[in-house]
Amino acid sequence: MHRRITGKLVIATHNPGKLAEMKELLAPYGIEAVSAGELGLGEPDETGNDFRSNAAIKAIAAARATKLPAFADDSGIVVDALDGAPGIFSARWAGPSKDFAAAMAQIERLLQERGATTPDKRKAHFVSALCVAWPDDHLEEVEARVDGTLVWPPRGTAGFGYDPMFLPDGHSRTFGEMDSIEKHGLPPLGLGLSHRARAFVKLAEICLEPR
Ligand code: IMP
Repeated sequence: MHRRITGKLVIATHNPGKLAEMKELLAPYGIEAVSAGELGLGEPDETGNDFRSNAAIKAIAAARATKLPAFADDSGIVVDALDGAPGIFSARWAGPSKDFAAAMAQIERLLQERGATTPDKRKAHFVSALCVAWPDDHLEEVEARVDGTLVWPPRGTAGFGYDPMFLPDGHSRTFGEMDSIEKHGLPPLGLGLSHRARAFVKLAEICLEPR
């Protein structure tokens, strides 16, 4: 049985870019969202082997610590020509200073080394795994992806992380050139574009009720 989210929800992230997106996504549902950072919670080690288990580790840790339902996302970019890297290590590739210009340059260097110079060899997708955990360990889990091509040089200054390098299929602007309304592509304007918005649409179907 799926469980509905009501009342207060902890957002188990310390990433300001993701926090802002999650608050935006939750706003139409009247959920009172408070972040793990605001509550002074620590960050658990992401020891899982895939996005789904890392999302669950973060959500379960926050739900147990706060005795409230907690919502976590684990996400990243998967590059075909790099055998799926950076994948679950997407945040780590930016190093402790969170230098995504350097992380994107590193991806580009590796693509060039592998001769991935034409769009067909530069395919990538973003993945978002979402997990809501309750203090009694009930879990709701969904996952979604968005496919695209990596461009160089990066384009645009909107969004965060690898957005300026990612051109979603069927679009002419990178995520870095899109405002958040276009990047999410949510109803009533669309059916979900970004990986996180698509996963969120799935989660909303099973756990949320519009106000
Ligand atoms: P984690 O889920 O906190 O382990 O971090 C995932 C990392 O993937 C982020 O720090 C970003 O670098 C990258 N990432 C995830 N989603 C997006 C996105 O929507 N745009 C750009 N980069 C993203």
